[in-house]
Amino acid sequence: VRKPIIAGNWKMNKTLAEAEEFVQAVKNNIPANDVVDAVVGAPNIFTQKLVEWTEGTDLKVAAQNSYFEDEGAFTGETSPKALADLGTDYVIIGHSERRDIFGETDEEVNKKAHAVFNHKMLPIICVGESLDQREAGETNEWVSGQVKAALEGLTAEQVKELVLAYEPIWAIGTGKTATSEQANDTIKVIRETVQELYDEETAEAVRIQYGGSVKPDNIAELLDQSDIDGALVGGASLEADSFLKLLEAAD
Ligand code: 13P
Repeated sequence: VRKPIIAGNWKMNKTLAEAEEFVQAVKNNIPANDVVDAVVGAPNIFTQKLVEWTEGTDLKVAAQNSYFEDEGAFTGETSPKALADLGTDYVIIGHSERRDIFGETDEEVNKKAHAVFNHKMLPIICVGESLDQREAGETNEWVSGQVKAALEGLTAEQVKELVLAYEPIWAIGTGKTATSEQANDTIKVIRETVQELYDEETAEAVRIQYGGSVKPDNIAELLDQSDIDGALVGGASLEADSFLKLLEAAD
């Protein structure tokens, strides 16, 4: 059985003071991490503080992006080596906002996944289709292609540990959740892709989240599905109360 993983993605929200208020409100109310993995993805400028504030608690810290080179002339980028050195647990890779707004390619997503593993952190790798692609019936092929590209060169052992997040772009921040069946169907396709690339054991082990307008009142139904192992949550992860409700649903 796969342990559920609920991850907040704050995106570019909160000041340092707001981040601290959130962490103080939730950090001692997190369900034990043998039951559910709880992760908060704060803007990278707060990562160091988040790690300090959550030390000794069951709340894990994700960065929202990392570059794939360790150091060098890459103005404005974040080094995976430096993130690991701070004590960062996870790095969100290939979010659709990174792909669409900042032009990240499948190849870069793959390089980032390798870099994250090289520094003993775990990637949360995002994939998902646009509304046009869904309406054109291209979802399965598209998402499966993204998964293949992202996992290129990773070992089965690595794939068993990483997290995939299926986030249909049309469901992000729109209030339009994929139905739990739609989400589960596409997540099954992702799992089948992992099986094709690796084997059944790897496909059964890899955790796949759903993301896109997940809220305390729809998360239970999503988590009830056979193949949905957690959620990557934007808007509803910003308030402490709401984040704790999401975790309770997985507890
Ligand atoms: P919302 O939960 O705000 O729709 O965002 C989803 C998302 O993009 C999480 O990474």
